[in-house]
Parts: sequence; structure tokens; C-alpha cells
Amino acid sequence: MIIAIDGTLASGKGTIARRLAVHYGLPHLDTGLLYRATGLAALKRGVSLDDEAALAALASGLDWARLDDPHLRSGEVGAAASQIAIFPKVRAALLQAQRDFAHQPGGAVLDGRDIGTVVCPAADIKLWIDAAIDVRAGRRWRELRDQGNPLSLEDMLDQLRERDARDRSRSEAPMQRAADARLIDTTDLTIDAAVDKAVEVVESLNRPTP
Ligand code: C5P
Repeated sequence: MIIAIDGTLASGKGTIARRLAVHYGLPHLDTGLLYRATGLAALKRGVSLDDEAALAALASGLDWARLDDPHLRSGEVGAAASQIAIFPKVRAALLQAQRDFAHQPGGAVLDGRDIGTVVCPAADIKLWIDAAIDVRAGRRWRELRDQGNPLSLEDMLDQLRERDARDRSRSEAPMQRAADARLIDTTDLTIDAAVDKAVEVVESLNRPTP
């Protein structure tokens, strides 16, 4: 079973994806980490975030064993990730490996922005996770504060708006809900309730036809 989970920043999609993977005993790939790792490699090596060819080479050479670097989660790296994610050659360099991950025996859970639309358009289950922007900003703000990187809530909202707009408006694989993706709005849900809802949706979609 391939489960494709897309959605906006701080919507809860990452946690839902991780918990669904545990629930169904499937491997999980947070595809945002691939873009983050490419962005971080560029920052470290002084590669311009506009140099599409050099960025694509970095993406092709990523060491997937190092995607657990906590530095990848920082706001600065997230912003770099969304800047380099606009380039078709960068996306192309990461595409086949994501598809291979999805199509391993037994399937997998992948989360990102274009999983249901581009990476796995034939996924068995597609979820689109979203929440009101002020709620998402509050969640991300608390997360950064707890990591010791305080930011004003206003700045957080601005960053989120900017990131959403860039991810939605890029010409290559923009962030969008697949026509056949089921929506889970987490605005008023605790994370446990959101995961329960996701399991419910998967069960309803995965029921064998009589
Ligand atoms: O989900 P996360 O915040 O880690 O993603 C960082 C950035 O990577 C996103 O803002 C988006 O620009 C890019 N991304 C993407 N396609 C994906 C996953 C992430 O373009 N499948």
C-alpha cells in the first residue's frame, strides 16, 4: 500500500505520516528532507541558491543516510529548501529515488507537497492535510521557541505566507491537492485526533471491494 500525504507547512502532515507508517508497519520518507538537505549542502558549500545546474548536482549526490541531521529542521534551511525546490532540474534529480522508495515491496508512506500529484499519482491512498494559517503559525512558532529560536508571531505568519505562496505558485510540481486526495483539516484537532481521523480515512479507502 502506498500512502501519499501532502499539505501545507505545520499542518501536521509530518506527524500524521510518521504515525501512519508505524500503524501500518510501512517505511516512511519525509520528502521535505531531500529539499532541505540539498539547500543545506548549498549553504555549506557556498553554492548560489540560483544556480540550478549546481543545485541539481548536489541533489543527485545526496547521502540519504544523513537525513537525520537535526540542523535540517531549522527555519533557515527550510527557507533555502523552498527556494531551491522551484527548479525543475533539482526536482527531476530527486524524483526517481522517491518513486523507488514508494514502490518497494509492501509499499511506503511519503509526505511532501507533490506526492499525490507527481511522485505517486497512482498511490492507493492520498491525503491532503491543511489547517487555518494562524493555527499553523502558532504551532510552528511554539516549535521554534522550544528549540530556542524565538520569533514574533507576526514574523512567523509572514514567513508562512511567503512559503505557502512560493510553494503554490512555482510552475514545476506546485503544492496542490490532488483531485482524488481526501482532506483532513487539523485546525480544531489535537494531533492524536488527527491521526485517528487519518487511520479512519485509510481504512475506509482501503476496504476490499466485495
Ligand atoms: O515539508 P518541509 O517544510 O520540510 O519542506 C521544505 C520545502 O521543501 C517546502 O517548503 C517545499 O518548497 C519543498 N518541498 C517540495 N516538495 C516536496 C517536499 C518539500 O517542494 N515533496
